[in-house]
This record gives sequence, structure tokens and C-alpha cells, in this order.
Amino acid sequence: MEDIAGRIDSIKSTLPEGVKLVAVSKFHPTEVVMDAYRAGQRIFGESRANELQEKASTLPDDVEWHFIGHLQTNKVRQIIPYVSMIHSIDSGRLLKIVNDEALRYGRKVDVLLQIHVALEETKFGFTPEELMEFAESWDSDDMPGIRVRGVMGMASNVDDEERIRADFRTIASTFDSLAAGPMSDNDNFDTISMGMSHDYMTAVECGSNMVRIGTTIFGEREY
Ligand SMILES: *Cc1c(COP(=O)(O)O)cnc(C)c1O
Repeated sequence: MEDIAGRIDSIKSTLPEGVKLVAVSKFHPTEVVMDAYRAGQRIFGESRANELQEKASTLPDDVEWHFIGHLQTNKVRQIIPYVSMIHSIDSGRLLKIVNDEALRYGRKVDVLLQIHVALEETKFGFTPEELMEFAESWDSDDMPGIRVRGVMGMASNVDDEERIRADFRTIASTFDSLAAGPMSDNDNFDTISMGMSHDYMTAVECGSNMVRIGTTIFGEREY
């Protein structure tokens, strides 16, 4: 408990004002998440629908649950009652399903559009070109169940600091192009979610205002 509070504090002390911390609690038990809650943390990130639902049903209501993993369309309905932001919108089809389910529940859900720039093919998301094209053809009036808040991305999983920096710059400049272009009439478009335990300082230097940190807070995950 002391440890978790201390680690959250020390991360926060390195974050400039205006950068939000998502504590990534996936694979960690509810008691441990509760320790972080008692330390004042309110935003938690999960990557599996079942786990998010279970934890959300147990933890206090003022937690903001963020879904950060790949979201299968058949899992959307399960998380909609609990989730406040979905970081991982990687197709127009998924966006539409989130909108439709949110409307069914009378909710408005914040979403981020996931950008794929990393070297690994296992990562999901639109390429910057695909995303620009998608955003140009997209009309927010058609989807009152969602608010498109910005973008999310991951850097390549490499040691090469320059490659990581280049990936984050690409994500941030795609955000800028969207904000100046197809999203220019969207006042809610303000979030760049990038940076994890090992690279969040670089991400913040490149313009991130939301970091997703798991291991540094909770320790290694046991899958
Ligand atoms: C697991 C995960 C994180 C947290 O990674 P750590 O290295 O544990 O900080 C961040 N973002 C996404 C999308 C994840 O799946």
C-alpha cells in the first residue's frame, strides 16, 4: 500500500501539469487496485472486458475505467455500462458499434482513435494515412453516443531511443493534422494518449497528455 502510493507519487512528480495518469491495473487483483484508489488514483486502465466488468462492479463508483486493449466487437456491450473512455478504436465498424451500444444504454462514451506506427505487426490501429482518410469521411452528427477525444498510440518495442521518439512524433503530428483538419470543429478533441512504463518520459516530451503506466506502479504482471 505504502509502496503503491509512493510509486504513484513519484510518477506524478515527473509529469508536467495537464498530463493525466492512467494506472494500468490489468492482471492485478482488485485489492491492489483498491490500494491505488486509497492513494488517490481515480483513472484505471484495463485490457480485457471480463476483468473490467468485474473490477468496476467491486470498486467505488467514482473510478474512471479506461479500456486500453484490443476490443472485439462482441465485447463492446459488456463494457459500455462501466467504461468512461475507450483508447483502442481501430476501425470504423468498431466505432459504430460503440456508438450504437452507448445509445442503447443512454450513455455518451469518450473514445480515442488508435494509430499504428510501431514496427510490430501485432499492434492494432489505423495507419496515419488511413486515419486521415477515415476522419475526413466521418460525420460526428451520425454518432451521438460517442465523443471523439483524440488519439492513442504505442511506440515500437525497441531499445532504439530515436525510433521510439520518431514513433511518438508521428502520433503527435497525426493528432495535429486531425485537429487542424477534419476535427477542427470538435472542441473535445484534446487528448494524446501515449507512453508506458519504459517510455513515458519520451512520450511526454513529444506531446503526450495521457500516459498509461502499469508495471512501474503495480510491478510485473503474471499472465
Ligand atoms: C499493458 C499496457 C500498458 C501498460 O504497460 P506497462 O509497460 O506495464 O506500463 C499501456 N498501454 C497499453 C495499450 C497496454 O496494453
